Amino acid sequence: MYLGAHMSISGGVHNALIEGESIGCTAVQLFTKSNNRWQAPPLKDSEIQTFYDVRQKTGIDKLVVHTGYLINLANPSDNWQKSMDSMETELVRAHQLGLEMVVLHPGSHLGQGEEFGLKRIADSLNQLYAKHPSINVKTLLEVTAGQGTNLGYTFEQLAQIISMTHDKSKYGICLDTCHMFAAGYDIRTEKAYNNTLDKLEKALGIDLVMAIHLNDTYGQLGGKKDRHTHIGEGTLGTEPFRLLLNDPRFRNVPMLLETPKDDGIQSDIKNLAVLKSLLEQ
Ligand SMILES: [Zn+2]
Ligand SMILES: [Zn+2]
Repeated sequence: MYLGAHMSISGGVHNALIEGESIGCTAVQLFTKSNNRWQAPPLKDSEIQTFYDVRQKTGIDKLVVHTGYLINLANPSDNWQKSMDSMETELVRAHQLGLEMVVLHPGSHLGQGEEFGLKRIADSLNQLYAKHPSINVKTLLEVTAGQGTNLGYTFEQLAQIISMTHDKSKYGICLDTCHMFAAGYDIRTEKAYNNTLDKLEKALGIDLVMAIHLNDTYGQLGGKKDRHTHIGEGTLGTEPFRLLLNDPRFRNVPMLLETPKDDGIQSDIKNLAVLKSLLEQ
C-alpha cells in the first residue's frame, strides 16, 4: 500500500523524497514552491534532473503535489487572475517534475454565492487545461471543512464542479478525514463509515478518489473547523483510520499524513507507527 506524509521541500523539491524515504514512506505529498506565495522562480534544469534522479533512487512512486494556499479560483475580484497564474504555475511545475496529481482546495465564493463559485472554479480549470493541452497533470479537488465561504464541503459540490468541466479525465478527488468530519460526514464507526462511503459512491464514484489525507481533528462533527491533530489523539480516534487503511477499495490510493510536526520528522514517525499498527494483515 501507499502510506506516507506531507514532506518539507526546504533545501530543494527533491528533499521531500529523501526525508520521506528516511522514515519509510511509500507515498509523499509535497509543495513544489512556497505554499503562501503566488509565484516562484522557474525550476532550473538542474533541480528537475536532481528530482528525477532522487525519485528513481528512492523508488517512491506515489507522489502528490499540494497547491499553494493563496489560490482561489472562485474569487470574484482582481485576485482571480493572480490565482489563475498561480494555478497555471502549479500545473506547469508538476508537469516539469513528472508529477501526475495536484491537490487543490476548490475555492471560496467570498459572498457571491455557491452556484457562482462552483461555476467559476470549473470555468477557470477549463481555461487552464485548454491553454495547456499537453499537460497531463490531474487536479484533485479536496473535500473542505466548509469554513466561511469555502466550497467543496459536500461530495455533491465536487461532483457539480466536475460536471461543468470539459475534460473529465483531468480530475479526481482528495479526501481528508479531518475536513470530511468537520463538514458533517461521520466515519467514527463501521456503520457511519459505510454510510459516508455510500454517499460518496452515489455522488461521485469511489474510483474518483485518488488521494486521501489522514488527519485526526480537535473539531466536532459538522463543526466546520479545520484543526488537524495526531492520529488517535483527537475526536476521530483510531477507528476511521483502521477502516480506511484496510479498505481494499483504497489499496492503490496514496494515504498521506498532514498532522502537526511538533517534533519535526519524529512526529511523522510516531503517527506512521500508529497507522501501521492498525493494518490487519
Ligand atoms: Zn489541503
Ligand atoms: Zn488535507
